[in-house]
Amino acid sequence: MPLAVLNVRPSRLKSLHLVRTDNRNKDLALQCIGERVLLYAPADEPRRGYFGTARIADVNPDLTQRRFIFVALEEVSLLNRFVALEELAAPIESRAYRADGSLDFSYFSMSIRGLTLDDQRAAHALLTRTEASTGFGESAQTELSVHPASFGSRGRRLREEGARNTRLRWSVLEVYGAACAMCGDDDAVHELGAYEVEVCHLRPLRQAGPDELTNAMPMCRKHHWAYDWGLFTLAEVGQIIPSIRMPPSLHRRFNGQTRARFPSTRQAWPKAEHLRFHREKVFLG
Ligand SMILES: [Zn+2]
Repeated sequence: MPLAVLNVRPSRLKSLHLVRTDNRNKDLALQCIGERVLLYAPADEPRRGYFGTARIADVNPDLTQRRFIFVALEEVSLLNRFVALEELAAPIESRAYRADGSLDFSYFSMSIRGLTLDDQRAAHALLTRTEASTGFGESAQTELSVHPASFGSRGRRLREEGARNTRLRWSVLEVYGAACAMCGDDDAVHELGAYEVEVCHLRPLRQAGPDELTNAMPMCRKHHWAYDWGLFTLAEVGQIIPSIRMPPSLHRRFNGQTRARFPSTRQAWPKAEHLRFHREKVFLG
């Protein structure tokens, strides 16, 4: 049963794989990762109303314009028609109307909004009825592509990892940006919110490392892997200390950097104790 409704402007999208929307209800979007949401086309769209459901596969910050977020969708099912908003218990745009019945766009619906229990029941009834009468599927009267390539497995993985990891990744991206803190490579595709860097836990999770910003840094896959193996470690203020076992090809991957890039705010810096743990227990020497 859908937990929330996501405002989407289908006429402005090439596909429904990725929706860029404002960040007003970012926390709700994060909570809905792995959950099914109802899709709604707002009043200024050529066709307006509830038009399908989708599962939220991922939510990422837009690092170029911070008031936006990217919502990746998977398992998109479109209704064969747009269903009038009045059919939900509490219509999503109801607050957009003035007392005299005219539209007040200052109360326009949020990017994503939670559904009350009544709304959820109404949505369920609406979807069941519409499914029975018109069916779901690709034959929907829309040019939107509905089959993303590979969000499925990512969505499942994210569900297992839980919202906490997503929040940590979010903080790391916001504080450090999307470049590897070791080599500075930034292979992100910013207009898609597709960030290549991974969150590296400085003291490994399996060795009681906390899931916190001060125990995390963004690293490209290569450096994440090398750090986890102890092929290099970091001194207190971030100097990179390579292991004697580090192959020369990996040395060159640092692009001449000798220090890790720390955030500008000191409170966000990696904690000395976590770096020390890695030097003493993981580093190959
Ligand atoms: Zn790197």
